[in-house]
Amino acid sequence: MTVRQALERAEQRYAASNSASERRYRDATAVLPGGNTRTSLHYSPFPVTFASGEDQFLTDLDGHRYVDLLGEYSAGLYGHSDAAVLAAVRRALDEGLSYGGPNRYEAGLAQEIVRRFPSVELLRFTNSGTEANLFAIGTARAVTGRGTVLVFEGGYHGGVLSFRGATPLNTPYPYVVCDYNDVPGTLAAIEQHRDDLAAVILEPMLGGAGAVPATAGFVRAIRDATTRHGVVLIVDEVMTSRLAPGGLQEVFGVVPDLTTFGKYLGAGFSFGAFGGASRLMARFDPGVPGHLSHPGTFNNNTVTMAAGLAGLRDVFTPSATRALNARGDRLRDRLNALFAEAGVAMQATGLGSILSLHFQTGPITRSRDIDPAPEKRALLHLELMLRGFYIARRGYLALPLPVTDADVDAFADAVRDVATTHHRLLR
Ligand code: PLP
Repeated sequence: MTVRQALERAEQRYAASNSASERRYRDATAVLPGGNTRTSLHYSPFPVTFASGEDQFLTDLDGHRYVDLLGEYSAGLYGHSDAAVLAAVRRALDEGLSYGGPNRYEAGLAQEIVRRFPSVELLRFTNSGTEANLFAIGTARAVTGRGTVLVFEGGYHGGVLSFRGATPLNTPYPYVVCDYNDVPGTLAAIEQHRDDLAAVILEPMLGGAGAVPATAGFVRAIRDATTRHGVVLIVDEVMTSRLAPGGLQEVFGVVPDLTTFGKYLGAGFSFGAFGGASRLMARFDPGVPGHLSHPGTFNNNTVTMAAGLAGLRDVFTPSATRALNARGDRLRDRLNALFAEAGVAMQATGLGSILSLHFQTGPITRSRDIDPAPEKRALLHLELMLRGFYIARRGYLALPLPVTDADVDAFADAVRDVATTHHRLLR
């Protein structure tokens, strides 16, 4: 049997057991292109539609229950019904919506973030990580008076800041694209473009491209060179800030000029933030003549602010952060051990609670190293869904807090079962 044939069989079983989701999907295609309003949620033959979530579980329209290991691409850190988050949301709802003025939560959430990330002295909220990165880049261009932005192949900073393949919708800045983890190449590009280089924007681990961590040497070399040439270093911690109490910048011992945030910090609601050194961020003080302007209707929406504050202050404490990421490290080690035992050419990459499964052995240090293996990814994804585990089609997982050791054990057993069943196709 070929991978294609195995995939076709899995698709048939999947379609046969998801008729309500398939109907919902077909109806949606009449009004949403491809039935979809968020590209990353599409997969073949059609995605299941969820009806509800509770703790670490999701239930779809056909009544299947999944352990949610995708964790909303890292934004669903708190799971689907954290008591402290829900209480804060209910209270905010009871206090009324849409004030059109400051509320009692926004400075508290800002304080919690400043406490956790010492490089962030002042910050501002946005509605998404994309927006946070757009404003961070705009800030760098405004304060330096330069135009060019250095990015990395495979980097993802939002729907209009994507450096994974052809991206005609990207913001039309002059970009210089370097290889991830390539120290000499990146330093040479910074030197070459230093007169017009406004910013380097860096994910300290490539997230969407496949959970590829930076080396500490790479991040530190970029910090040194950007400091030397007055280039603003923007570290995009939209995904990675959950990997240690002070994010990956703490792990790498690097102080960026600006950091961007998003995802889980809104505790389930639309969120983004950009912040950093007060010499840059104080430019947004609207009481100062000539300030930079940053409006945004829902920048301080009460539900996001209240939920985010309760989550970061009361739930995702530094010790909870360490425990969750240790669980992710154990899972990664266990998966890599079982791939070796089963004799399949697979590996789990990433750091802490964010993992990505790949269909190759050998080191992966940049996005170009990754074998896309679309049919194998699809086969694994559907086989795991049929066994009650929800991960991303691309093989990405971000463990939510309510996931237990028993869930992780059951997931590792399911992966072993798939690897054994399809051993001949995956070796
Ligand atoms: N930056 C990184 C590293 C991300 O992973 C993402 C989203 O996946 C973004 C930025 C964009 O965030 P949002 O989807 O909230 O616009």
